Amino acid sequence: MKLAPNRLVAALFLLALPLAAACGGSGKSGSATPGEGLSGTSSDFTANDGKLKVATTVAPLTSIVVNIGGDRIYVHGLIPAGVDSHTYEPRPSDAKILAKADLLIMNGADLEGTTAEIAQANLKDKSKIYKLADNTLSGEDEKTGFLYDFSFPRAEGRPNPHLWMDPQYALKYADLVRQWLSANDTANAAYYQANFNKYAALLRQLDEAIRKDQETVPPANRKLLTYHDSWAYWARRYGWQVIGAVQPSSFKEPSAKELADLINQLKAEKVPAIFGSEVFPSKTLEAIARETGAKFEQQLRDDEPPGKPGDPGYTYAGMLVEDMKIMFSVLGGNANETAKVNPRNVFLTD
Ligand SMILES: [Zn+2]
Repeated sequence: MKLAPNRLVAALFLLALPLAAACGGSGKSGSATPGEGLSGTSSDFTANDGKLKVATTVAPLTSIVVNIGGDRIYVHGLIPAGVDSHTYEPRPSDAKILAKADLLIMNGADLEGTTAEIAQANLKDKSKIYKLADNTLSGEDEKTGFLYDFSFPRAEGRPNPHLWMDPQYALKYADLVRQWLSANDTANAAYYQANFNKYAALLRQLDEAIRKDQETVPPANRKLLTYHDSWAYWARRYGWQVIGAVQPSSFKEPSAKELADLINQLKAEKVPAIFGSEVFPSKTLEAIARETGAKFEQQLRDDEPPGKPGDPGYTYAGMLVEDMKIMFSVLGGNANETAKVNPRNVFLTD
């Protein structure tokens, strides 16, 4: 299909305006916390039995903490699944939870809006704020450091924070969680180590399965154009190309100029598919896909596990398994090996 960029951009720009209210989240802001159903343990921090009370932020990180801490900690995920974490404004109830928490484990790298400030003001001991990304990467080396790109330009000084989408970094996150839980609860260090060993095996299996499955995608299709810019580290891990992201660094809908650039890029790169995001539904992206003939898929997730709390696959690993099934099949491959990974929680129970 031929594209008339100027007319399309004008139409899309108009289309984007009424959508502004829908940006930055899918509107799901209920009281459910990611910790619920991920851990099977109480997360309201009212207990007084000596177990560590660990606050976390987004659901994938909560899932990692749950797998290491198992039933010997209480976990509360502050940012509800499906809510935009990048611009998150903590609620009064978050301050109350943080006041009771022994530690806060967050991503850092400027994800999580103003959560760190609220934690500074409310946590009993400010030294107990732990940042995963900041302890995983440093520097800006293109192969080993933080990445800056479309939605996270170097000029703004905030790196792409989505390290966890690479299972190798999730493994590093899990090891950091093990260290921090052990340092604050030495009596259970051996238990946290045993859980880490089981979880590390699962994440290595996941990484290997993804590596095998991505080879089923024709090489010319191993490129991603997404709405939300969350696949940079994943792509670096498996040697794929992220050719662009639609969402500007403001997390608002793209401008007419940005749309025009994008459309030119789509024409030049012969992009087979465009991927939307569960958390940031975009009618603009859908319209671009329709105009260019690219397939449009909007179920990829980076913040929110699939299914519902309590489901066996409502985990970090479950999220990646479902993402791979969608992504590889849309691009002409399959996720047969990844589908064999059992993404359930692996922690040992007493
Ligand atoms: Zn994100």
